[in-house]
Order: sequence, then structure tokens, then C-alpha cells
Amino acid sequence: MVFFIIGGRMKKSLKMKVLKKQRIAVLVGHNSKKTGVFSGGIREWNYNRDLAKEICTHSRTFGILSRVFYRTYDQEISREIGNAYREIAAYNPDMVLDLHCNGFIDPGANGCEMLTNGGHESTRIGESLCDYITHEFGTKNRGAKILGRHENGGLSVYAYSDTPACAHIPIIVCEPFFLTNPKEREMFCSESGRIRLARAILSGAACYWHDRKKRILPWDHKK
Ligand SMILES: [Zn+2]
Repeated sequence: MVFFIIGGRMKKSLKMKVLKKQRIAVLVGHNSKKTGVFSGGIREWNYNRDLAKEICTHSRTFGILSRVFYRTYDQEISREIGNAYREIAAYNPDMVLDLHCNGFIDPGANGCEMLTNGGHESTRIGESLCDYITHEFGTKNRGAKILGRHENGGLSVYAYSDTPACAHIPIIVCEPFFLTNPKEREMFCSESGRIRLARAILSGAACYWHDRKKRILPWDHKK
């Protein structure tokens, strides 16, 4: 647990321990006009809009504050992303979770991955999210990957760190499953699948913040 002591000069017995609540800015990837991957009748943007709401509904039970942010379509994509991240900056979050779904021509492509700019904290959070999601769904753990600035998705990963006042805040581009994989689509896109994913994401974030030194996963205790 992370405790912050208020008033260093107070007598020991009067010291107050306050648990700081971490904040997640949940950004729905793409926009309502250009919705990203479309497969099996499901649109990436629509799925993530519902997932984002689910994360916010459950976050307080994990001791986490959260708020949903959207991108507004702009012909210039860097401006579109920049506008969203400026709005996010005003919320002063401890992490940005940029929600996406993976897609590939081969329907067999599968698994969970998190994309980051390679910062230490974003990599560790990304690994924790992958651990919890793949444990919950029994899917392949593709891990936390460093995204190049000019790769697809690179604009998101670097946009926020390009805003000088918030360069220290970790951004995770979240690709928890392949929407183009029929088996994963069925698992993750049911209502219960969406709730399980929201809770797995929150568990991964809570585990990172509260147990970051030990990083013992709950299922390791059972072994
Ligand atoms: Zn996407």
C-alpha cells in the first residue's frame, strides 16, 4: 500500500495515513466517425466506448478514480490526438489507458499486448495488465511492447509525453485481444466478457500501484 504522511512535525500518534487514490484517464481509441477495426459486426470504437464506461463503473471498488475521454474527428490525426490529450492533461491522471482492439488479416492471430513508449513505468503497468487479462481469459500473453514514434499507434503513445507539463505520465495503448479472431471476439465481446475485462484491467493497475515492489500475483500464492 502507498501511504502519504501529512504534517511531518506532528507527534507520532497523531500522524495521519492517507491512501492516495490513483487516477486513470480512459481514452476511447479512434472516433465515432472513423471507428477502427470492424469484424464480426462489431466496431472497435463502439466496443471500447462500452468498455470505458464499464471500467469507470467498477474503478472505485479498486480504490481507483477514472474518467472517460473521447477523440473528436479531425482531418489532421495528430491534431485530433493532441486535442484529446490536452483535455486529459487537465485531469492530471496517474496513467492514460488508450483503449483499442487488435486486428489482422489472418483470423488466427491472437493474444493480448500493451504498447508503450518504453518508459519504465508504462512498461511495468503494461506487463501487469497483460498478466491479469491473460490469466482471466486463458489467452496468449504477447507482453508489453515498445512502439516506435512513427509506427501505427505511435502518435498516441508519444502525444502525451510530447506535452511538456505531463511528460512523466505513463501511456498504455491497450490491445487486450484480436477483434478479427472469432474465438476471442466471442469471449471478450459478450456482456460478461466486457465486465471481466474491465475488472482484469483494474486489477492489473491496482496490483502495479499497491504492490509494485513485490509484484506478487494473487494466483502465485496458490501454487
Ligand atoms: Zn485501434
